Amino acid sequence: MSPEQVLKDNFGFTKFRKGQSEVISRVLAKQNVLAVMPTGGGKSLCYQIPALVNDGITVVVSPLISLMKDQVDSLRQNGINAAAINSTIPQEEVNPILRGAYEGRIKLIYVTPERLNMDYFRYQLNFLPIDLVAIDEAHCISQWGHDFRPAYRQLKDAVDHLKSHPNILALTATATPAVQEDIGDQLGISKDNFIITSFARPNISFQVAHPETTTRRYIRDYLKEHQDEAGIIYVNTRRGVDELTDYLAGQHFSVAGYRAGMDPADRAQVQDDFQFDRVNTIVATSAFGMGIDKSNVRFVIHATSAQNIESYYQEAGRAGRDGLPSEAILIYHPNDIRQYRWFIDQSTADDDYRDRQYQKLQAVANYASTPECLQQFIVRYFGQDWPPCGHCSNCTDQRTVQDITPESQQVIALVKELGGRFGKGVVAQAVTGSQSQRMREIDAQSLEYFGALKKMSKQAAASLIDYLVATGILETAGAQYPVLRIAQAGWQVLDGAKKVTRRQEEAPSRAHTQLV
Ligand code: ADP
Ligand code: ZN
Repeated sequence: MSPEQVLKDNFGFTKFRKGQSEVISRVLAKQNVLAVMPTGGGKSLCYQIPALVNDGITVVVSPLISLMKDQVDSLRQNGINAAAINSTIPQEEVNPILRGAYEGRIKLIYVTPERLNMDYFRYQLNFLPIDLVAIDEAHCISQWGHDFRPAYRQLKDAVDHLKSHPNILALTATATPAVQEDIGDQLGISKDNFIITSFARPNISFQVAHPETTTRRYIRDYLKEHQDEAGIIYVNTRRGVDELTDYLAGQHFSVAGYRAGMDPADRAQVQDDFQFDRVNTIVATSAFGMGIDKSNVRFVIHATSAQNIESYYQEAGRAGRDGLPSEAILIYHPNDIRQYRWFIDQSTADDDYRDRQYQKLQAVANYASTPECLQQFIVRYFGQDWPPCGHCSNCTDQRTVQDITPESQQVIALVKELGGRFGKGVVAQAVTGSQSQRMREIDAQSLEYFGALKKMSKQAAASLIDYLVATGILETAGAQYPVLRIAQAGWQVLDGAKKVTRRQEEAPSRAHTQLV
């Protein structure tokens, strides 16, 4: 049967989506292929269809047991016989599955990477005519990524030892160019066989919120406006999940919490209630969402930031899989970044790895402060380009453009005076003339630009610094204790050769911005 026929007969779809037919035809031509497609782009069909067209078996490597189960269930609903083999399946059920595959009754076997690395399992697989090994979440193979899993490292070796010489299809939704290259190198996929569709999610309006009220009030007001819509709110601690869930339930919203440490039956119940619209809003840690395939999620709010753009985009991307207008809101608190920095400080990973984590974190801070289109920012982060979306919170920012060159010059001048030895905290304190202990320690009072922006609050100064970093006027150097330095564009600003503008409320008094 042709792929088009399978698409119709088995899945009931009429047209391939972007990238799908190209991936499928190369896979069927026995090439090793890397498919990078956004969440909801339809990656599963890229191996499910070849699995049905090919005579033999397709092995699908997936890191998530819950996801496997969902996939197997939904394939069975489409009349396709698939099975999962993982640590939750007792050995006495494994042999019948393998027998079913041997006899041609089972076409797809989902396995964890750990399973594929077991000698006995590899030995058993060698009795099967395996045509294709699909590796889902392939970015997990790369230390350059955000979700490295050591078990992925041995996959190529496992595939190479299979007697039936299957080809490989690697799939991911989040891979920067460096990660793509690494996946290709490790799995033996040539660049010609990288099929990368756009990372953009045009139906999602990305927003960064800097609320003046508390986060919970902001969310309460948002939910009032979106009563009957399905949404996910991400919080980064279990306690945060409980507190926000209780608060919102107290306000009579239809909410449920979902987090690690909950009884598995309760978790399954929450997931089910959400899937079938019995609960509108889920408050969850990042543990939620991997296994769910709910297409009509209208909003994803991050009450606390993610640690990197990859995770943020993955989570935010759970909105609008049906293609309808949806929102992804990051409520930004600089404190979250400080806390994550501390987590990385405490980790025992090697220096290179930690440096990359710091860089990824900096990208999140830049996302929160950039004046550019947010969708464009994300797509560029993944190495592609995209025109301004027209509907993110930056594209629709109506505030007037202010000339902030004078105050920017004060900050830059101070950074120059400090000789690039200090970070944002010290610069913000010094430029606003803080009387803190730290200022005395470094004898900041003796600096020419100490207190140059005396009337500005420390937070406003920190936000200005974030803005200058995000716009490439200042840059951070050093990972663990990032210090501020003047970037090329910053020298031009200092020389008066370049202006700095920012959309913001008109400042009540601009007297303090005169150069001293
Ligand atoms: P991904 O794994 O890339 O996030 P999925 O494979 O789960 O995405 O697909 C997302 C949704 O799109 C699923 O509901 C799937 O059935 C649907 N889908 C995939 N391909 C097509 C297609 N060609 N036509 C219509 N719907 C499709
Ligand atoms: Zn935009």
